[in-house]
Amino acid sequence: MKIIIMGPPGAGKGTQAEFLVKEMKIPHISTGDMFRKAVKEGTSMGLEAKRYMELGQLVPDHVTVGIVKERLSEADCSESFLLDGFPRTVSQADSLEKILESIDVGLDSVINIVVNREGLMKRLTGRRVCKSCGATYHVLYNPSKDGDKCQECGAELYQRSDDTEETVTNRLDVYEQQTAALVEYYEGKGLLHHVVGDLSVMEVNKEILKVLGSV
Ligand code: ADP
Ligand code: ADP
Ligand code: ZN
Repeated sequence: MKIIIMGPPGAGKGTQAEFLVKEMKIPHISTGDMFRKAVKEGTSMGLEAKRYMELGQLVPDHVTVGIVKERLSEADCSESFLLDGFPRTVSQADSLEKILESIDVGLDSVINIVVNREGLMKRLTGRRVCKSCGATYHVLYNPSKDGDKCQECGAELYQRSDDTEETVTNRLDVYEQQTAALVEYYEGKGLLHHVVGDLSVMEVNKEILKVLGSV
């Protein structure tokens, strides 16, 4: 199954993707994770991406579309994948369509997680991520059973440098200005399914599985 999971920053895309890729055993393609890895490794692409990420702005398309194209052409993506955080603009969505056409693959479903803006700020400023395995927690809503250590692997948790109030405000504005239009874009293609994201993590997961079971 070929799926896109979308929604504003903090909607729960990464959290739900972690469950879905385990349940469905499909590759998880997160552009945010790919950029953070490149930043950590200090590659030239990482250095370029970092400038934009720190400001809460989008990394330019020539970089973003390039890494997605490369990843989607790998063998494990020929049957199924879960795209998380890409596309984020109509132009990226058009590029994705061309990439998928060139490898003769079609999308099955686009899941849009809907959460109100005030909720998103609280979620993002309280987010904590495992340094080693990338598992996502929240200080109030989804704390690790092991305090400031990851309950999956024991490594330390950290706060992303772009999860400050100021950068989150920019990211939410960028979402409204550049990404929200994708809702109509995929609605027009008959692929979009809305899921209420203001419920518990497990309830949202159940809703998504229900939607995917019906496509
Ligand atoms: P995204 O990938 O869409 O930016 P995340 O999955 O990283 O979002 O979630 C953002 C924050 O909100 C994390 O701290 C996560 O633990 C928390 N979170 C995710 N889903 C829920 C939920 N259904 N209820 C409450 N908090 C949630
Ligand atoms: P979140 O989970 O909060 O939505 P991500 O981890 O997906 O955030 O993205 C973090 C940052 O990486 C974004 O603010 C942006 O700078 C960059 N980024 C991720 N995906 C894309 C994309 N598709 N296009 C442009 N920039 C992106
Ligand atoms: Zn971990």
